Amino acid sequence: MRILIVEDDPVLADALMQSMRRMSHAVDRVDNGADAVRAAQSQPYDLVILDLGLPKLDGFGVLKQLRARRQRVPVLILTARDGIEDRVAGLDLGADDYLTKPFDLPELEARVRALLRRGAGGSGPTVEFGQLAFDSVNRHVTVRGAGVELSARELGVLELLIARAGRVVSKEQLLESLYDAGEEASSNAIEVYVHRLRKKIEGGGVTIRTVRGLGYMLDKLKPR
Ligand code: CA
Repeated sequence: MRILIVEDDPVLADALMQSMRRMSHAVDRVDNGADAVRAAQSQPYDLVILDLGLPKLDGFGVLKQLRARRQRVPVLILTARDGIEDRVAGLDLGADDYLTKPFDLPELEARVRALLRRGAGGSGPTVEFGQLAFDSVNRHVTVRGAGVELSARELGVLELLIARAGRVVSKEQLLESLYDAGEEASSNAIEVYVHRLRKKIEGGGVTIRTVRGLGYMLDKLKPR
């Protein structure tokens, strides 16, 4: 998944980026509200982590502009301690959740997982498709109940395909969910990950179809 971090404190921003990368998400970071609006317009994000006190345009302004443009991307706001009014205002403006600073990274990570699951239409920690199950908390995949070993990139590809199961996911979307802006990446790499994944999820009653010219789709195999 691809996440936008909007935070002007460089130390906190670094910690957030490292944490999201450990969860094998691609991350972009901006340090002011104007750049946040621009970034969210130019790139489809799966989640925005939004500080409220920002230069140029504050977090409320960013949220207002996103929602005015009908961008439904989940937004997690970071608020100052005791900022009850800020939290209420943020939620009223269309934020999906909030965290009060200072917070622990494990709590942030749990909230991020919950928001990404909700965005994918699931509510429990495990998403199932056919006999394939993806546990987003432990980042673990099973096929017919048996664990499958996947690399971080393979997990990233499968996570997006399973979140959008039955729909086509383009190579560009996969690249964007795996690599940060400026990171070297090629669509050949995606082909390699998909090739490996197909072998690893064999027997799960599902397959990754190539949709010529469009991308890939996780689909159920018809029973014979
Ligand atoms: Ca700030």
